[in-house]
Amino acid sequence: MPATILDGTKIASDIRAELAAEVKSMTAAGARPGLAVILVGENPASEIYVRGKVKSCEELGIYSEKITPPTTITTLELCQMVEGLNRRDEIDGILVQLPLPDQVDAKKVLMTVHPTKDVDGFHPMNVGYLSTQRPGLVPCTPAGAMEVLRRSGIAVAGKESVVVGRSDIVGKPAAMLLLNANATVTVCHSKTHDLAAVCRRADILVAAIGRAGMITRDFVKPGATVLDVGINKVTERAEFEKFFAGNKKREEKFAAKGSTLVGDVHPEVAEIAGAITPVPGGLGPLTIAMLMSNTVKAARMRRGSPVTV
Ligand code: NDP
Repeated sequence: MPATILDGTKIASDIRAELAAEVKSMTAAGARPGLAVILVGENPASEIYVRGKVKSCEELGIYSEKITPPTTITTLELCQMVEGLNRRDEIDGILVQLPLPDQVDAKKVLMTVHPTKDVDGFHPMNVGYLSTQRPGLVPCTPAGAMEVLRRSGIAVAGKESVVVGRSDIVGKPAAMLLLNANATVTVCHSKTHDLAAVCRRADILVAAIGRAGMITRDFVKPGATVLDVGINKVTERAEFEKFFAGNKKREEKFAAKGSTLVGDVHPEVAEIAGAITPVPGGLGPLTIAMLMSNTVKAARMRRGSPVTV
């Protein structure tokens, strides 16, 4: 039986509708949430991401501010800019769009963002809160993955979970969130021996690798839930055929655009998984929704309103 497709676009839209209502009532009470986004230089991909984030704020009624320093900015200047935002009461969230130019010490800049305004959840203080199960701000993509599980009624407690990838922004926080939700968690990486065998143990498999279609059917236990974080662009015809041969809809789009997206999970996995997030339309839309959610959460936390972990 083919897998249930976990519709990230629908889940993200539900979250946004809930947030819009919350923002409305916070605004009425004189506490409109605000997000500042710093976009350094002229990176076309970053510009698209930032545009999406600002548009999303507008749709939800969140105040937003885009700051665009030149690509020649120094670490000190950028840190001073962040400190200025730390001091402003109407700014609840500060996002520094990565990557930063080579001359900038990105870790230092991210450390400068006040932990209460760190809507990306990258500050070591928030990493510590997550690992000790205290309320804090959690990285958006793994938080989105957990929302997909929760809102799809997929139980996590006691389940064997395998996370492939150990980056600070996806793999590690995803593993920590699953552990906090009482899963039994294994984290894999490029040095893991017999990765397929380890993955086959998983009731919940998270792929956050950055390698197109690497997780094939022999990595997956039939009936498992598969969360595909990967976003990889396919432009070569041969590679396209490897993943989407016979898929008419994809074929039309590929012919029109000259490219298509594939996750870290091979599309064939949908034939044996119990449930799976598609690419596109899976975890991607959740990332911006969770950024909005973190902005609202940051606004509430700074004003002393209770939030759940
Ligand atoms: P990183 O490159 O930072 O981390 C990749 C991880 O995968 C590393 O831990 C690496 O292991 C591991 N890995 C690489 N090759 C293998 C292999 N052959 N076998 C096992 N493990 C391997 O990537 P990110 O975590 O930043 O991103 C992962 C993917 O998620 C990317 O496709 C990215 O585009 C996507 N992404 C999607 C987002 C969304 O909004 N949906 C947001 C962020 C990322 P090691 O540590 O040993 O090197």
